[in-house]
Amino acid sequence: MHKPIRSIVIVGGGTAGWMSAAALARVAGKTHKLHLVESEEIGTVGVGEATIPPIATFNRVLGIDEDEFLRATNGTIKLGIEFKDWYRPGHRYMHAFGALGRPLGMTQFHHVWRRANALGLDGDWEQYVYNTVAARALRYGRPGPQRRTPLEPLTHAFHFDAGLYAAFLRRFATERGVVRTEGKIRRTLLNAFNGHVEAVEMENGTKIEGDLFIDCSGFRGLLIEQALGTGFEDWSHWLPCDRAWAVPCANGGEFTPYTRSTAHGAGWQWRIPLQHRIGNGHVFASRYMGEEQARDILMANLDGQPQADPRLLRFTAGRRRKMWNRNVIAVGLSSGFLEPLESTSIHLVQSAITRILMALPNDGIDAVEVDDFNEKARVEYERIRDFIILHYKATERDDSPFWRDCRSMEVPDELARRMRYFASHGRVSRVYDELFLDVSWIQVFLGQGVIPRSWHPLADQLSETELREFLDEVKGMIRHEMAVLPTHADFIARHCAARPS
Ligand SMILES: Cc1cc2nc3c(=O)[nH]c(=O)nc-3n(C[C@H](O)[C@H](O)[C@H](O)COP(=O)(O)OP(=O)(O)OC[C@H]3O[C@@H](n4cnc5c(N)ncnc54)[C@H](O)[C@@H]3O)c2cc1C
Repeated sequence: MHKPIRSIVIVGGGTAGWMSAAALARVAGKTHKLHLVESEEIGTVGVGEATIPPIATFNRVLGIDEDEFLRATNGTIKLGIEFKDWYRPGHRYMHAFGALGRPLGMTQFHHVWRRANALGLDGDWEQYVYNTVAARALRYGRPGPQRRTPLEPLTHAFHFDAGLYAAFLRRFATERGVVRTEGKIRRTLLNAFNGHVEAVEMENGTKIEGDLFIDCSGFRGLLIEQALGTGFEDWSHWLPCDRAWAVPCANGGEFTPYTRSTAHGAGWQWRIPLQHRIGNGHVFASRYMGEEQARDILMANLDGQPQADPRLLRFTAGRRRKMWNRNVIAVGLSSGFLEPLESTSIHLVQSAITRILMALPNDGIDAVEVDDFNEKARVEYERIRDFIILHYKATERDDSPFWRDCRSMEVPDELARRMRYFASHGRVSRVYDELFLDVSWIQVFLGQGVIPRSWHPLADQLSETELREFLDEVKGMIRHEMAVLPTHADFIARHCAARPS
């Protein structure tokens, strides 16, 4: 289709819609007409409050001040995710952001730790993760100008109120020229010759025309599926969780700078601390547990008084067969769904937006661009999917049919290969630009009880005494930093406490 793209219509005003609108306004606001349609009557999914570190880059690119953003969204700091009862009941570990120890020359730290562990010198790898030590001590701070240490600063993401985040981005986008239309779309008008979307028609009969449509309409996939019938690849045989109860509760328990994920009999529960409340949800597989039982488990495991009735959400793990079909690009829940175990959905929105900006057509949509876009999106989704499956597969739990089936399921070939390789050699084999780095895979492998049988030969270069000194030095550096870090609560109060409404 060799028609210049000058006008872009975003369908949907949830997190995906407003993130897309804000980024396009910032980058393409001077060259393109931008329009967003949303329906207050339909509303948004209303969850999605834990993120991963790349979101800080998104904010920076948009020129958003971090403290202002945290104030406006009742946000808090996230240093990682604690997995409780996943490997076995009573066990916990953290998948933290940032580094694990520090390398010994070219050798990754965990090989050195593994050797020490085999010698009986050291059992606990988590004490070498700066983010984990700080998170467990409920601490967070930004490095001051005088900071002198070889440790990298704490790597962080955010927890925020999803509704406030969308409102914050809406202000940002509309101030920069995005035109917003409120109302329900009743049908999509397709070009009779090439099947491209020409316009969406509102319930009052108004037509909104565009050259390119970003479908951010949520699970329903108004354009990508209902109008274009793109198709969906179902992954529920690997990820059987298909429901979640969600409920906010009053603050209580620890003010953690991390998300907690607690495994239950047929799924898991999230705990996301915000400044004004805690977000909670129980993700479960309806094949193994009834809705009422799942709701009761959630309500029995809250740290404070519930602030609303619990809400049930239904979903299917999988992805749209093409994220870009004709002149429609699916972003957010319309593009697919992976359960929020590793807080990846908002990141998938961010990376889709980045790809759209990179591939923004000039004189029309080219099939090469579309195929390239779809291939990158496929690989990204599949690699994240495998990382999530790993948490279910590598477990000792056999206390319910759900866990027994997870343990014995066949996993995708690529994941099976990675699991074998880490178990034998302690090495991670990943493709160049996938989202989760070695350090994430290593922590989840170790945390889920996959302890490698061998280690890198270069980890043998130190004598036992040198090995002890090296490990003590890393621990000492972290201890030194901990002595000067403020608490998470102090940090929020000092820099970004929300104004009382
Ligand atoms: C249980 C659960 C927990 C989650 N937790 C996390 C998390 O911790 N971290 C994370 O990164 N992600 C999480 N997610 C995912 C995250 O919530 C979504 O990726 C994110 O909110 C984006 O949603 P969306 O904007 O695509 O869809 P929605 O929020 O559903 O927005 C859809 C928009 O389309 C509009 N719309 C639909 N139909 C029409 C129509 N006919 N006319 C006009 N407008 C229409 C709606 O009004 C709405 O504005 C979670 C998801 C679920 C289900």
